[in-house]
Amino acid sequence: MTEKQTRFVIVGFDGLRPDCIDEDMPTLSAFIAQSHRWNRYLATFPTETYVNHPSIFSGFRPNRHGIIANAFFNREMPSEKSVFVGSSVSSIETQDAAVDLIQVPTLGDRLGLAGKTLRVICANSSGSTRLQHIHADRYSGHLNCCVHDIGLTLPASEREALRAKWGNGVALKFPDFDGTKLVTDIFFDYELPRGLGDVTILWIGEPDHSSHEFGIFNDKTRQARKAADEAFKRVLDWWTAKGEKEGVQLAVMSDHGHGTVCAHYDLKSKLIEKGWKVISGKDLQNGLKPQDNDIVMIGDYTLGLWLTHPTENNLLRLRDELMSIEEVGMIFSQPKIGSSDNDVEGRVKGTFSEALISSDHARGPDLRVTMRNNPRTGRLVMGASLEIGTGNHGGLLPVEINSLLAVKGDQFQAPEAVHTEPAGHDDFALTVMTLMGLLGNESALSPMPSARLLTEAIGGREKMDCEEEILTLQEGKFMQYIQRVRFGNHVYVTEGARAGTCNIEALNQSE
Ligand SMILES: [Zn+2]
Repeated sequence: MTEKQTRFVIVGFDGLRPDCIDEDMPTLSAFIAQSHRWNRYLATFPTETYVNHPSIFSGFRPNRHGIIANAFFNREMPSEKSVFVGSSVSSIETQDAAVDLIQVPTLGDRLGLAGKTLRVICANSSGSTRLQHIHADRYSGHLNCCVHDIGLTLPASEREALRAKWGNGVALKFPDFDGTKLVTDIFFDYELPRGLGDVTILWIGEPDHSSHEFGIFNDKTRQARKAADEAFKRVLDWWTAKGEKEGVQLAVMSDHGHGTVCAHYDLKSKLIEKGWKVISGKDLQNGLKPQDNDIVMIGDYTLGLWLTHPTENNLLRLRDELMSIEEVGMIFSQPKIGSSDNDVEGRVKGTFSEALISSDHARGPDLRVTMRNNPRTGRLVMGASLEIGTGNHGGLLPVEINSLLAVKGDQFQAPEAVHTEPAGHDDFALTVMTLMGLLGNESALSPMPSARLLTEAIGGREKMDCEEEILTLQEGKFMQYIQRVRFGNHVYVTEGARAGTCNIEALNQSE
């Protein structure tokens, strides 16, 4: 008989919106209905994969873990290596060799130092997979495997064993039926026979892959969700028959949601037209130098703007030009030096402080922009990298922020219920690490996360009130707002956008 011990199997569905579950994912829907589930489980800003995963896998928000965007300009690095591209393992390795890329201890580190294992099987990009457990080769018995590129698996011994059975894995096609299936095949044909690890991540790349390719409600994306549900059914059947009795906690989650691309706008060309010398991440990789230009601009919907000479004159001129563009949505800057976390205005007058949304960081851009979007319709404007009608995310629309979390297992108190307390990825991570007994030895690994233990599900709940707040900022005719909810000492962002009438017709039409 297997000894009962607390372990976790966490099944991730990348980019799954909670409102897309019931129709296409009956098994997941039924599991959630009998589990602890949160109706305000919130992704962090920017609502991008490479920003949210380090929160899920560390218990810290981006202002502490340091992955401030899917792609960013890292001024700590020499210019030819200065672009961080989250989807690229070589970019991650180059940066991690030179600077501490993830600046906090991760779930994988804490498990490894405690003599326990984290085993990741993921159907996102190879870079996304790597960031779920960046140092899997440092600890015995750990695994980091991308089913689309098994050749990049850590450690080498696991790479060879997996290659012998599955070659280099499966190519990414849309929908990613093959990747979804291989995640569960490796779980059943490799992980379970060798003995389940302490924490196992089964991360399915759908419906994110297909949402970006076809759109959130396209029939092919619905097929992708159905296939993900069938894969989950295999895991759930095993858990119900066996895992649950052996002390395995089963969690299902998503990292962020999706909005709908409804119009294109080329912000780079517009700024060049206004007289700025603007270069992109691609330009930097091709050898162009920041010092020969005015602005490094990275992103296509939520964008970072790093000025070569961030003087007050330059910043205010750029701010005014951005604010005059109808297609620009929110504008943020880093907090003023010495300011408190609750200063609404950032270093650039009239823009929100990134500290309000837990994304302020030394690596952050001088100005960050989210292109115009509409919280009511869930539609957004961005550059031409994704087609009209497809899905994208990165801003503060409720459809981008609202994510899935549901958990069940003997460490979570009966009765299972819907929790109305706001919660985020850092809270979930802290709760997993606490239940795994990883946080007793503070001196071995500091700093400690300041996230919230999800006591509403594990017991010891303190009665706290939710306080909603709306922060607004106006500069001339430009107005923007952020909605937050305070819960005890914890603050969560629930929505944000540019305010006022919008003349972009496509943003205002409903689906
Ligand atoms: Zn994602």
